[in-house]
Amino acid sequence: MARRTLNDPPLTQSDPEIAALIAAEERREVDKLRLIASENYVSRAVLDATGSILTNKYSEGYAGKRYYEGQQLIDQIELLAISRVKQLFGAEHVNVQPYSGSPANLAAYLAFCKPGDPVLGLGLPAGGHLTHGWSVSITGKYFDSHGYGVKRDDQRIDFDEVVRLAREHKPKLIWCGTTAYPRTLDFARFREIADEVGAILCADIAHISGLVAGGAHPTPVGIADVVTTTTHKTLRGPRGGMILCKAEHAKAIDRAVFPGLQGGPHNHTTAGIAVAAGEALRPEFKEYAHAVVANAKALAEGLKSRGFDLVTGGTDNHLILLDLTSKNVPGKVAAQALDRAGIVANYNSVPFDPRKPFDPSGLRIGTPSITTRGMGSAEMAKLAEWMERVVAAPEDSAVVEGVAAEVKELCAEFPPPGIQID
Ligand SMILES: *Cc1c(COP(=O)(O)O)cnc(C)c1O
Repeated sequence: MARRTLNDPPLTQSDPEIAALIAAEERREVDKLRLIASENYVSRAVLDATGSILTNKYSEGYAGKRYYEGQQLIDQIELLAISRVKQLFGAEHVNVQPYSGSPANLAAYLAFCKPGDPVLGLGLPAGGHLTHGWSVSITGKYFDSHGYGVKRDDQRIDFDEVVRLAREHKPKLIWCGTTAYPRTLDFARFREIADEVGAILCADIAHISGLVAGGAHPTPVGIADVVTTTTHKTLRGPRGGMILCKAEHAKAIDRAVFPGLQGGPHNHTTAGIAVAAGEALRPEFKEYAHAVVANAKALAEGLKSRGFDLVTGGTDNHLILLDLTSKNVPGKVAAQALDRAGIVANYNSVPFDPRKPFDPSGLRIGTPSITTRGMGSAEMAKLAEWMERVVAAPEDSAVVEGVAAEVKELCAEFPPPGIQID
């Protein structure tokens, strides 16, 4: 590495205020059980790439066709990221430039739709994402969006409704993909429906791409026309987005990302994606992906045996959606008490929730972060017990503080990657 110039102090000296806040966040991420289903811990190697001088470089365009000079090394980095991601998912074409999951989805709209075109996606209250056409999102405002839901009886995707809405509205684009849905997605079923009405099928695997890469969830690659994903959830890369697609859509997707939607790619993120994809190609990643699901299933059983109601009755993936109605505790009260006890989750609507989105009935929890720390079934059993104790007495500070002490002790046994605490 090049020598630092004299007037170039490290963050701790140059900006102690921000440095102290980052150090405190490191402490928090070590001391607490992080159950937010979309979060994880990245490796030291991913952090090193992401925090590198690649942030200094402008690279509008694609390898070999850039609008700025000096791309000798950036092109190699982006091509490596692409080839690793192709290998990981078996994709024909990959674009690693989207700034995050939401811009990746916007690029899919831009590639195939005109403003006002009909589109179809899973509604937010049923576990869909804002960018699948929800009313407050640009995707709900600029397109004629229709939302399918889940069934009342088993809370699984209502394919009869998908078919009915698809025939009625003839969408240009159909989204399959979820942000709060604990079951396996049947991509082939969506493909049939898309084919019947001549729609582009777009699978958004933002949450599950790590499971797909590790073989712990069926892949939509080869079935959907386009697959979008974040890189920072179960995939354990830097914050970013990617689009995988069939070769026939490569041009449309690349043009939509740049120059359609974005300027220069974030090269430091691209390098982080390359590193994360390299990690995901190793056998240990498969073990991790399967352990994420095994832990979620173990935790689901533990919670069920303690009287918790689980949306759909269980899980096939990395997340569990709890309906706390029968526990007589609103999701927000539970989430706040759990956070004080060192168990960090988010309150969430459940399907057909009678309560308001800002004060819903449910809680969403996921196992990616705690699995990355190396926790297993014994820890899932403890976690279920702690959650039961806190949810039964969210206002009882003795209970909450007692659990917090036990959580901290457990966390000390499972140091996460990427964080050096002395
Ligand atoms: C998280 C998520 C996104 C958005 O990702 P951001 O990086 O937060 O923009 C898109 N789709 C789904 C299904 C998600 O879960």
